[in-house]
Amino acid sequence: MGFISVTKQKTLFLISFFIVTICIFVFFTKNAVSKQSVDQNKFKILSTIAMVDGIAKEIGKDKFSFDLLIKGDIDPHSYELVKGDSEKLQDADIILYNGLGLEHGASVMYHIQKHPMAIPVAESIVETSEYLFVDGIIDPHLWMDVSLWLQIIDPIQEAFSKLDPQNREFYLQNSESLKSKLRALHEEVFQLLQSIPSDQRYLVTSHDAFNYFSRRYLSEPCEMEDDKWRNRFIAPEGLAPDGQMSIMDIKLVIDSLLTNNVSVVFPESNISRSSLQKIVSVCKKKGKTVLIAKDALYGDTMGSKHSGPESYEEMIRHNARVLKRNLNPSEVYEK
Ligand SMILES: [Zn+2]
Repeated sequence: MGFISVTKQKTLFLISFFIVTICIFVFFTKNAVSKQSVDQNKFKILSTIAMVDGIAKEIGKDKFSFDLLIKGDIDPHSYELVKGDSEKLQDADIILYNGLGLEHGASVMYHIQKHPMAIPVAESIVETSEYLFVDGIIDPHLWMDVSLWLQIIDPIQEAFSKLDPQNREFYLQNSESLKSKLRALHEEVFQLLQSIPSDQRYLVTSHDAFNYFSRRYLSEPCEMEDDKWRNRFIAPEGLAPDGQMSIMDIKLVIDSLLTNNVSVVFPESNISRSSLQKIVSVCKKKGKTVLIAKDALYGDTMGSKHSGPESYEEMIRHNARVLKRNLNPSEVYEK
């Protein structure tokens, strides 16, 4: 009897264990399936660049399904669609793109132009006088001035509220707290960079991504009124790094380096350093030592997933700190 009872107990234990295992499996599978179906039911928001995607995610949070078209360190100016991209563009309920001519790849623009809800977030959000031009072409790198970039929040919030009116209050609240965060970031970056002595606040990078940045954060307030702030920044490659660079472009950068006694230039994470290396070598022949900073700046992209900044705020803060460290080293390293 005792033997049977022990066997029964074992059998009962095994049956119970089996039932519990099945229940746990069913519970998690059901949850995974329902989460998947919830995700599939969400409106799809596709942003072309990471700087727009970051802002959109902070406004919409878990209410939408977000995706990014141009990932990693790929140049957004000349990006052309790869396998799977056209489906993403067609399936998106809203496409958020920078505009101002940034995304000028023909295949990307083809889809953007025919999409019913494609929003060029950087267009028509600021006073016309705030836009900058380089050789008569509008400069699309608006995200480099935080006080301008936070103006993309309202059009995104309005688009989200229109698509999903029942959560309008949620999007409004998220927008207001994001604006406060970005206003604080703007002030932080301004104070940090203005603490560099004026005669050291000169920036040389690979391409023309830092005009808005230099006007707002590197120039003297009085230089904002006229074009004098333009002396604060120069780059050998134009508004889009896919353009042709001439010997004259290199010469202009070298003249500026010598005039302003600049001794460090800054590579950009997604652009070859060859033009900067050429500048350094010509300067050396002229008896001027110029170094290429070890840390790259983030101009058009936010790098790869594990090495780059994880948000727009981190991107801007990283750039400001790299400049402070390299343009004003005594301040940082003095004990
Ligand atoms: Zn660019």
